[in-house]
Amino acid sequence: MSVELPEAMILAEQLNNTIVGKKIKACEMKDYEKLQKLTFFNKDIKEFDRLLDCSVKSIHQRGNVIRIQMNKKMNLVLGPDYGASILYHTSEETLPKKHHLKIQFTDKSYLTIRQTGMGLIYSAADNEVDSLYVVKRDFSDTPSPIGEQEFTVEKFKEMLSAKNQNIKASLVGKTAIVVGLSNAAFQEIIFKARIHPKRNTSSFSESDIHNVYDAMKDILNARICSGGKDNWTNLYGEAGRHTPVMGSNMKDKDCPECGAKIEMIAHGGGQVFFCPHCQK
Ligand SMILES: [Zn+2]
Repeated sequence: MSVELPEAMILAEQLNNTIVGKKIKACEMKDYEKLQKLTFFNKDIKEFDRLLDCSVKSIHQRGNVIRIQMNKKMNLVLGPDYGASILYHTSEETLPKKHHLKIQFTDKSYLTIRQTGMGLIYSAADNEVDSLYVVKRDFSDTPSPIGEQEFTVEKFKEMLSAKNQNIKASLVGKTAIVVGLSNAAFQEIIFKARIHPKRNTSSFSESDIHNVYDAMKDILNARICSGGKDNWTNLYGEAGRHTPVMGSNMKDKDCPECGAKIEMIAHGGGQVFFCPHCQK
C-alpha cells in the first residue's frame, strides 16, 4: 500500500489538472495526534489556518513527496510514504468518513488526505519547507530513477560501487542511491533483474548492473502507464491496474518464469518475496 515514485507522479499530475487555481475556503483536521507525535503533522494545529484564502499555484513532486505550492508564500507538503488516501471530490457527496485533513475550496470541491500508514501532512511557509525531513530526503541531489536524463547507467554503476552495500540498501531507505522506492518496487526490480535480495553490489557483474538499471526503469514506467499499483487508488478513487510481478501477491505461488516455489525472507525491515531459482 506504500506510495512510491510512480504513484506520486500520477497524483502530482492529477492534482495539477484538478486543483491549480482553486482557493482554500476551509481546512478540517481530525485524528492527527499520532502523526503529530512523530512530527508528521504540524504540532501547532493553527498553522493550517495559514492556508485559508490561499490559492493553489503549482504542484511539485520528487521521489514520493508532493509539494502543493500556494500564493501567500504557503505550501501543503505531502509525504504519503507508507500509504495514504489522497482524494479529490467535486461535491460533498463522496467525502470519506475518515480523514486527517479535509480541504474545502471556494467552488465547493474538496481534497481529503488520510494517512493509512506512516507519512507526512504539513502546512509550511516557503521558508519552512526545506527543513522538512521528507523534502530534504527527496528534493535532494539523490537521482530520481526515472525522468532524469543525467541518471545514466554509468552514473548508476559509479554510485553503486561507491557504497558497496547490499542491493536493498542501495535502492530503499536512508542509504539508497535513488529516491522514491520502497520494498514493493524493490521486489519487482530484483526479480526482473534476476538478483537475489541479499546480494552485495560489490559482487555485481557489468550485466547485473545493467539488468537492475533496466528493470528499475521498466517496472516504474510500466506502473505509471498502468495507472499505479492495483492495491492503490488515484486522486479520483480509481484503482491502478499494475499487478506486481513479485511481492506479497506471489505468496504460496510458483515462479511465473521457472515454476519454483516463491520464498519469503525478512530483510531490511520488510518481507521480501523472491524466486530462489531465478534470483542469484
Ligand atoms: Zn523462478
